[in-house]
Amino acid sequence: MKESLLSYLACPDCGGELSLNSTERENQEIISGGLRCGGCQSIFPIRSGVPRFADLEHDEKQRETAENFGAQWLAFDHVEQHHERQFLDWIAPVTQDFVRDKLVLEGGCGKGRHTRLVGLWGARDVVGIDLSVAVEAAYRNTKDLPNVHIIQADIYHPPLKRSFDYAFSVGVLHHLPDPRGGFDALVKRVKPGGAISAWVYGRENNGWIVNFVNPLRESFTSKLPPRLLYFLSYIPTLILYSMLKLIYAPFAQTGLKRFLFYADYLCYIARFPFREIHNIVHDHLTAPVAFYISREEFARWFGENETERAEIHWHNQNSWRGFARVRASVRAEARYAK
Ligand SMILES: [Zn+2]
Repeated sequence: MKESLLSYLACPDCGGELSLNSTERENQEIISGGLRCGGCQSIFPIRSGVPRFADLEHDEKQRETAENFGAQWLAFDHVEQHHERQFLDWIAPVTQDFVRDKLVLEGGCGKGRHTRLVGLWGARDVVGIDLSVAVEAAYRNTKDLPNVHIIQADIYHPPLKRSFDYAFSVGVLHHLPDPRGGFDALVKRVKPGGAISAWVYGRENNGWIVNFVNPLRESFTSKLPPRLLYFLSYIPTLILYSMLKLIYAPFAQTGLKRFLFYADYLCYIARFPFREIHNIVHDHLTAPVAFYISREEFARWFGENETERAEIHWHNQNSWRGFARVRASVRAEARYAK
């Protein structure tokens, strides 16, 4: 943890100011120590360079989700070139220029691949939070950037002040037990006049996943030991990868594309390397919870919140991305709201 993170932190329990007690430092990094709340006196540890606010005891599904994704992001901890294009597609109309000099929050940072990009694009500071041990991969992937901060915390109770110019969450909210609650919690950390982006799985066009993949995932694959699932998932990955390279990639630019199953999405991922396809397949088999969200429901998140001027777009005909402004007249008492 870098000391500059301290000014953005607030106690997740009472909103109080936190003070730092570092016991081990390595150059600018605080490797271990504690954060004490001046209000309720709670102490939150800093371990392996990451401040830890997560309490996984109270919710079994959250714990399973954190364990499975934690294992996934430690196994697939690489950050590659194509991640930048993919990330921009998920957060459009936001661009590299949009985040420059802004204070940015990422809800569910996984291995930190997007947190790193936002740091490289020149954000004043970017804070990535995640419930799982993936924060350790995120920390490794970002510690060289002075403007990137990683925290292990629950997205419903981020230990942060309402100080952010922009918050985003990509591919995470649909894995929460209450996706809308996660979105609302992020909105409450954005300053009035700031902005928010979210990308979620769509319900439309995904009936085959909901009806066939979900039951397999919920009752079987998400319960397998992480290492076993990692190796077993090579089998569907090999089949999918062969189809992508032999059928989808050659037909992607031709009129024949319209005859292919799930064409927009599969043509989009057909250019990815094998390891990324393995990551995608694994992602769909490991999640204990996955909601597929209709446009109508997604639009309601934006419409019934403190946000305005929402732009909601269909992405690859299988998911929704949304962008909106947080109203300039948001009530001041929401500053530390949970
Ligand atoms: Zn407190």
